[in-house]
Amino acid sequence: MEEGVIKFALQFTESGPVPGESLAILNAWRRILWQLALVGQDPERYGGYGFGNVSQRIAPLDAQAGKRQFLISGTQTGGLETLEAAHFTVIRSYNPHTNRVVAEGPVKPSSESLTHGMIYDLDAGIHAILHVHSPHIWQQASALNIPVTDAAVTYGTPEMAQEAARLFQETHVLHKGIFSMGGHEDGIVAFGTTASEAGGILLNALATSYSL
Ligand SMILES: [Zn+2]
Repeated sequence: MEEGVIKFALQFTESGPVPGESLAILNAWRRILWQLALVGQDPERYGGYGFGNVSQRIAPLDAQAGKRQFLISGTQTGGLETLEAAHFTVIRSYNPHTNRVVAEGPVKPSSESLTHGMIYDLDAGIHAILHVHSPHIWQQASALNIPVTDAAVTYGTPEMAQEAARLFQETHVLHKGIFSMGGHEDGIVAFGTTASEAGGILLNALATSYSL
């Protein structure tokens, strides 16, 4: 499995950064995650591809499924400690069934944009998503009581969308705010109404994994 390779059909329009959107808190959390090597780029990890990405919904927050627009970090920005507005792109629409993503911004979006979109579709109260790579949490997901997607399903595919939907139906994942991607080495997704809520959930899980 190759991290960082876009697997969906991308309709991309290059434009300037989105004006008027505050990314300060999301970026602050992204920086902490980078410092903890939960997001990054390392020649010794995942074939040297950048890993981890963050997103945040933008108005209108009452948008219907498939059109819950969000800002997401660009593909291959993992190596940077701090991101700026120019490193984020807007996902205008997405469709896990047809495997299509429509994006607009200064950089091409993360290869996991479709996964983010489908999580936003599963609950309108989710406004921020942090996707990281944590061997500690991933290897101990069961002990941490964190729901896990089917190991046969890889990242960025329509099947991952179905798997996430299954977790939301069959487990307490909405309450936990975190799940593990069984078929995506070290892949963890945390979410919340804010980036701070998702970040807190993630760091609590990391602390607990260290304690086991
Ligand atoms: Zn990943």
